[in-house]
Amino acid sequence: MKDVLLRNLDYISARQAQIFKRHEIVTVEDLLLSFPTKFDDYTIVSIKDALPEVPLTIAGVIQSKATVTNIKPKLTLMSFYADVEGRKIRVSIFNRHFLKNRIYYGVYVRLTGKFSANMKSFTAAEISFEEFSSNITPVFNIKGIKNAKVLEIKERVFEDFGDGIEEILPEEVRKRHNLISRYHAIKYINLPEETEEIKKAIRRIKFEELLLYQLKIKYLLYMRKNYPQGVAIEFDEKKVADFIASLPFRLTEDQSRAVEEILGDMASNFKMNRLLQGEVGSGKTVVAAICLYAAVTAGYQGAIMVPTEVLAQQHFQTFRELFENTDVNIQMLSASLSGKDRKTILEGLKNKTVDIVVGTHSLFGKDVVFEKLGLVVTDEEHRFGVKQRVSIVGKGHLIDHLKMSATPIPRTLAISVLGESDISVIRELPGQRKEPITKYLNYKDMDLVHEHIQNQIKSGRQVYVITPMIEESPVMELENATDIYEQFRERYSGICEVGLIHSRLKTAEKEEVMKKFQDNEIQILVSTSVIEVGVNVVNATTCVVLDADRFGIAQLHQMRGRVRRSDEQAYCFLVSDSEAETAVARLKLVEGNNDGFVLAEEDLIMRGPGDLFGERQTGNIPFKMADLVLDRELLLEADAEAEALINEGKLFTEEYAKLYEIVHKNYLEKKEFLD
Ligand code: ADP
Ligand code: MG
Repeated sequence: MKDVLLRNLDYISARQAQIFKRHEIVTVEDLLLSFPTKFDDYTIVSIKDALPEVPLTIAGVIQSKATVTNIKPKLTLMSFYADVEGRKIRVSIFNRHFLKNRIYYGVYVRLTGKFSANMKSFTAAEISFEEFSSNITPVFNIKGIKNAKVLEIKERVFEDFGDGIEEILPEEVRKRHNLISRYHAIKYINLPEETEEIKKAIRRIKFEELLLYQLKIKYLLYMRKNYPQGVAIEFDEKKVADFIASLPFRLTEDQSRAVEEILGDMASNFKMNRLLQGEVGSGKTVVAAICLYAAVTAGYQGAIMVPTEVLAQQHFQTFRELFENTDVNIQMLSASLSGKDRKTILEGLKNKTVDIVVGTHSLFGKDVVFEKLGLVVTDEEHRFGVKQRVSIVGKGHLIDHLKMSATPIPRTLAISVLGESDISVIRELPGQRKEPITKYLNYKDMDLVHEHIQNQIKSGRQVYVITPMIEESPVMELENATDIYEQFRERYSGICEVGLIHSRLKTAEKEEVMKKFQDNEIQILVSTSVIEVGVNVVNATTCVVLDADRFGIAQLHQMRGRVRRSDEQAYCFLVSDSEAETAVARLKLVEGNNDGFVLAEEDLIMRGPGDLFGERQTGNIPFKMADLVLDRELLLEADAEAEALINEGKLFTEEYAKLYEIVHKNYLEKKEFLD
């Protein structure tokens, strides 16, 4: 089937073959695996069940000749009477005057259209005289070939080649999941006769897609662990334990477990590809520091990459403090370094006098060369593009990679799109963190917000004010932030200091503002969404998000996370006058829920996976039919099956040879994406 070209079939013209080719349908197999975009259902509805003004199909027997009126040029109306289950119905249909001769007493007709309000007349959009044809028509969007013709070709092709459709799922898998055969699935999807068949066919095809995908991911992990190609980092356990003991706090249980999992991966000789997932404020930074330190004790270098300069600066500061009593040499590579300073650090990386480097994408520069890089950490992983990630990992041979993300990843995505990673999760927040109090309100209640801000400031706390994102216009976004800054400055003059931070500021200026906020020289910080992630100012306990409807659920939750950094009660105000139903629903959801995982799952349902993870991940999803959100149940089922097939080794038995062959081939194609 793979080798038979459509253009060699005598019932397909050269022109048709050309059109199919434009739709990437070249072989017989391509044709049978091209699925309809929808099914038109002409199942006949009994007049007893029919509702007025609803599209449906009825059948009857013609009771009169047709009359044709020309309403205006190119618009004709044909009318006749039909007996539908004993009732006389007047039927009208536009622009079918050429069928006039087929309308006469006693002829069977099937009509698709709508009843009038009084159920006495029927306006048809389609008319058919065939009594026994199938009720369901798949609609293939092949521009240039009529659907009826496509169906005809498919029927011929299926007749001639259908027997060549090979089953790839062993019978026990099909039984376990109640799946019809591949042959029948392909038959029913292309040439269905009833709705039940289509349902079964769709289920089978979706399951196959999902299973193959899950197998591909799990097989990748399997190969990585069983045929390791990485380096084992033999760290100094005592030094690492001493370092952990020297920290100003005790690790939470989740943190300890994450450290253990990561160090375990590093010590093994397969290449680590692990995601550390933990809410904002859950203490991922220190976990990264411990692992980087471990790499250094084994004689390796480490790098930590962050998405913004502000964050790089902050991490650099934090790390310097954490490593104060060690002999680790840590440096920061930022865009604002002078040529000379940069050169010194680069030399240090090359001759391994620098152990750990913090930086933004400037770490990818061609001139950045490490003597012995062992561990790369990327913080706020989801903010990097795939190219950036690949280029940093390309800096050393199969180096371990730890990815950190505060965006809680719904299980659905975690096991599918991100399934190539091992995952460690930090769920509990350190200390006695209280749940933040979130209030969603309209601008008319801004006075309440100001009252709250004043009280907080009186008791020595600090406040974030986040101004709306205006995607269409960064200029307007900035103007708006500046306006709001002016308003706050006026209102709070003599009470406290107000600062402004936005993306147009130079790095040094941003750092200066952040430093002032950190040192409590500024009490209210007005910001655009530039400082969306990671920033840690423990004394800030209130976050006001203006025009909160402009942000997504995940973003709002991130912002709220900024004030959840200490054991003080935190507050978050979501201010919005939007009446859009989806916006209101979103804001209410965030107001009523603090669990990032729940929010992420809801976000996924509301928006679909595309928005959450950007193009890379969704672009990777090879499903023709399955949908990660709508088919969650089936995905979980396929995931469990894939897991069992690999863990129990069944995939490698004779019975599964066909399936194994496909999985292995997919793996070989995918291999270069290991990171
Ligand atoms: P995130 O996971 O968002 O990167 P951070 O690493 O910035 O979170 O940690 C948030 C705050 O919690 C920091 O001030 C950090 O020092 C503190 N912290 C981290 N771990 C603990 C712990 N086990 N006990 C108490 N405080 C901790
Ligand atoms: Mg962080």
